[in-house]
Amino acid sequence: MKKNLVVVGFGGMGSWHADHALESDVVTLKGIYDIDPAKSALAKSHGIYAYSSYDEVLADKDVDIITVAIPNDQHKDVVVAALNAGKHVLCEKPVTLSTELLLEMIDAANKNDKMFSVHQNRRFDVDYLAMKTIHDRGEIGDIFNIESRVHGSRGIPSDWRGKKEFGGGMIYDWGIHLIDQIMMIKGKDIKKVYCRLDNITNKEVDDGFKLELYYGDSSRAYIELGTYNFIALPRFYMQGTKGTAIITDWRENAKIVKCKHWHESDVLPVENAAGLTKTMAPRDSVTVDEYEFERPVSDVHDYYRNFCDAIEKKADLMVSNEDMLFDIKVMEAAFRSAKSGQVIDF
Ligand code: NAD
Repeated sequence: MKKNLVVVGFGGMGSWHADHALESDVVTLKGIYDIDPAKSALAKSHGIYAYSSYDEVLADKDVDIITVAIPNDQHKDVVVAALNAGKHVLCEKPVTLSTELLLEMIDAANKNDKMFSVHQNRRFDVDYLAMKTIHDRGEIGDIFNIESRVHGSRGIPSDWRGKKEFGGGMIYDWGIHLIDQIMMIKGKDIKKVYCRLDNITNKEVDDGFKLELYYGDSSRAYIELGTYNFIALPRFYMQGTKGTAIITDWRENAKIVKCKHWHESDVLPVENAAGLTKTMAPRDSVTVDEYEFERPVSDVHDYYRNFCDAIEKKADLMVSNEDMLFDIKVMEAAFRSAKSGQVIDF
């Protein structure tokens, strides 16, 4: 039987959840709650029930799941109240702003024996899935470096995301997605973290960042987010011992160049201003294979399907409490590194 869902916060992402629920095969949209009366009126105009208070939502015995889609600083209190009222809770990312707050949330979930997870929906992005598949299959050998970049040029949004008190800034907004994706690809054996924040268009919160992660096996990951990049660098770049993979843009397939023969006797040198170089000479089809990697298929509805299965004890949570804690800890280490200018032991 479908589970009854209420979405708290009917803004950009709350509307997405409401629309998504209307098409879902596992949840039914019971209604929404938003503190802004204009948003309640908007919901009603679409035939969606708008609760008049959060207490009314919590008191409704027919509500199984609450999805929280409000500004980041308010997640903790709203989530804990829902769990204490006996609801299962899905929270938008970033789940909250610190490990300390997250532990309170997890504690409330455990005490009330309710499911609690965070909406890491970018685990369904096909660019990320392509890189993860290439990594997991060993398509280009052992991976020693992966770079994940998202570059835009429109600055940080002018809403609450630009304000520190609401948990604004790009690490919280995009960083958590990109950290989570890299965790899914590389695992959790991070040894050191180094991060620099940018404040080009916003002095209060980071409007971009550069984050380096160093792993126990000597491999590394680099995550970069920019909101003032008028020329974007490739979305993903991954180097393995047998080749290189690249995704230039969200819409593009991954391209792989794989080495067939390492040693060659007849390298044609390339000429530049300083003379001839063999080291930097391009390769040809005799020594490398070049091909596109198949585009993975994903269905974002699997997120709610998994959550409902977890409630029924038929599956483990796709985004576990351990995953949430790990992602938040990496974020905290990134902030500590940026503040101190130091590499942080993780
Ligand atoms: P938004 O400003 O568009 O909407 C927030 C809504 O919450 C507003 O309508 C506001 O009136 C309402 N609200 C604020 N406090 C409330 C409260 N205490 N109770 C009920 N309603 C309240 O913001 P948004 O872009 O929808 O972001 C909301 C959350 O979703 C954030 O945590 C954000 O990080 C996340 N988000 C996730 C994704 C994703 O891809 N997963 C994308 C965008 C936003």
